[in-house]
Amino acid sequence: FNHKLQRTEKMKIISDLAASVAHEVRNPLQVTRGFLQLLGERTDEQHQRYLHMAVDELDRAAGIITDFLTFAKPELDEMRLLSLAEEMKQIEGMLAPLATMEGGALNINVPEHLSFYGNATKFKQALINMIKNSIEAFRTDGVIDIWAYEDQGKVTIHIRDNGEGMTEEQLARLGEPYFSTKTKGTGLGLMVTFRIIELMQGIIEVHSRKGEGTEMIVRFPVAREEAKDLPDRVRA
Ligand code: ADP
Ligand code: MG
Repeated sequence: FNHKLQRTEKMKIISDLAASVAHEVRNPLQVTRGFLQLLGERTDEQHQRYLHMAVDELDRAAGIITDFLTFAKPELDEMRLLSLAEEMKQIEGMLAPLATMEGGALNINVPEHLSFYGNATKFKQALINMIKNSIEAFRTDGVIDIWAYEDQGKVTIHIRDNGEGMTEEQLARLGEPYFSTKTKGTGLGLMVTFRIIELMQGIIEVHSRKGEGTEMIVRFPVAREEAKDLPDRVRA
């Protein structure tokens, strides 16, 4: 027992350290991004293209750090009542332009009234990881459909793409750390996504067929107004 306890303490030190390094690295990335954008406003088209690529790569680095940070410190610090429609609006604002740029479309159709308990930032991170995978799986005329409804006390969210899909072997390895079929992949995205969903008492189901597309279904317990019925750690 003692030995185990020591190990846990060591793990905590390592994960705190990893989290603070990741956190500190994000700031200079953000500052660099700002200066590059300033430069972009006063230079010719050719150089603008380079600056654009530099900003994209910085964003990629920031995304990897965000996933890594969640991996190192997966606790959800602030849980509150989330409106699915509101969160999806923000996600749409961030990812619809990317889908368009990749020659596809992102169709989001969720009703106004669905809510559940969770951490807003982490929830968006989980969905962004999934939707980005769908965009990265685009063939020609990529379409991502997202819709939601209440079913048996669960807020049920579907994310479906018509992209390249997965083989059964790939499907079985989904969420395994470092499993990636991409040259620039990290294989951290879905592992983090699955962890976040689990921490928010959610469950996820994945269907995929090679050459046809992928559908992920996420379910969270519906939140009713009476917060008093909730266990302590999910109270806002
Ligand atoms: P990464 O995106 O860095 O490769 P992820 O954990 O996000 O890591 O995904 C792991 C792997 O799962 C991907 O490399 C890809 O092979 C597969 N995958 C995930 N989502 C999809 C999808 N919507 N369509 C096809 N393949 C997918
Ligand atoms: Mg990914």
